[in-house]
Amino acid sequence: MSQSCCPSSEPQPTRTESCCDLHPPTACPPTPCPGCGQQGKAVPRLTLGALLKSERRPQIPVQDEFCFCKTSTCEVVYFLPGRPLFRKEALSVRVGLKEPDDPTVPACYCFGWTPQKIQAELETTGQSTVIDQIKTQIKVGNCYCEVTNPQGSCCLGNVAKVVQKASALVGQKGGEKR
Ligand SMILES: [Zn+2]
Repeated sequence: MSQSCCPSSEPQPTRTESCCDLHPPTACPPTPCPGCGQQGKAVPRLTLGALLKSERRPQIPVQDEFCFCKTSTCEVVYFLPGRPLFRKEALSVRVGLKEPDDPTVPACYCFGWTPQKIQAELETTGQSTVIDQIKTQIKVGNCYCEVTNPQGSCCLGNVAKVVQKASALVGQKGGEKR
């Protein structure tokens, strides 16, 4: 398996504990998003079916696989080569990767971890158990990324980034008190 849904430059869980193994991602052809020019990530048709608003489902093209754009400033969520398909407003959920300034939008859709909730735990206990909790749930098979997460694959890379950011924020606050 040469393709990983967790880009290696990101904080990355070990492969065996990642739901990438349970839901192996397929390679998106090297296709830039028509909205922002950034490389897309492949998502299965199932993800679009699960997360688009009901009135938009009939517009899903006959195709097994689509590309997802994770650029925070880009309105396009799903596209095909040269063809934007669905923008943020077409989804029944908000896309955490595209709402970096709203801490109430989930980073982990399977278990509802938002930046706000992650930060609250850090403030209360001084540590974050979110990654461990998610890994535990992955092991028992309770992770359903394809139908809960707009990116259609493992959220652990995103969650790790949120934990990092929240730790820095909480650290800053602690520093101010002294
Ligand atoms: Zn884009």
